[in-house]
Amino acid sequence: MASPPEQLSKTCQRTGYALSAALARISSVRLKPKDNPLALLRLLWKARRPSCVSDMPAVRNSFWLRPGYTAMTFFGFIVTASQEEADTMNVRLTRLKRHEMIHLRQAHNTGDSWVRFYLLYIWYYLRALPQNRRMKNAAYLLNPFEMEAYRHMDEPGYEQGEACEWRRWAAMKPSERRRLFSVER
Ligand SMILES: [Zn+2]
Repeated sequence: MASPPEQLSKTCQRTGYALSAALARISSVRLKPKDNPLALLRLLWKARRPSCVSDMPAVRNSFWLRPGYTAMTFFGFIVTASQEEADTMNVRLTRLKRHEMIHLRQAHNTGDSWVRFYLLYIWYYLRALPQNRRMKNAAYLLNPFEMEAYRHMDEPGYEQGEACEWRRWAAMKPSERRRLFSVER
């Protein structure tokens, strides 16, 4: 059995380890430098009409991604939270990349305009916002564009088709979409 001074020193050592581990965690999570938010302006400058984009290059910029979100479509580019994710998407069509490519196809059939696509996206988001009281993240998950992308992201080739199923969801009330969503889960 260790003597009291030895025990005290061991306890101090353990506390020290625990503290340094906690500090390392905090610094890697909280103090990690964010990417430059203005870097996306350069992408905006290079943006082309949806019909002129055949493949969306992925670039990392964690600033605009909310925690828990790994990628988003940004005017013909895919913005990812990590460089690793961007590198993977740039060499192969992952299910997440297919999800984003479906958004590209959807932008084709909103008049081949990114602006119209995002305005509609925001409109559907706002319309479904009251559903957040009954379902977690409803405004996002019940967005017709997201409903279609989530339903078909595991379906090879879907990203090359028309991708206009969102119109069917858009014709329904957000509350109807929510009921359907919960039945399917
Ligand atoms: Zn999406």
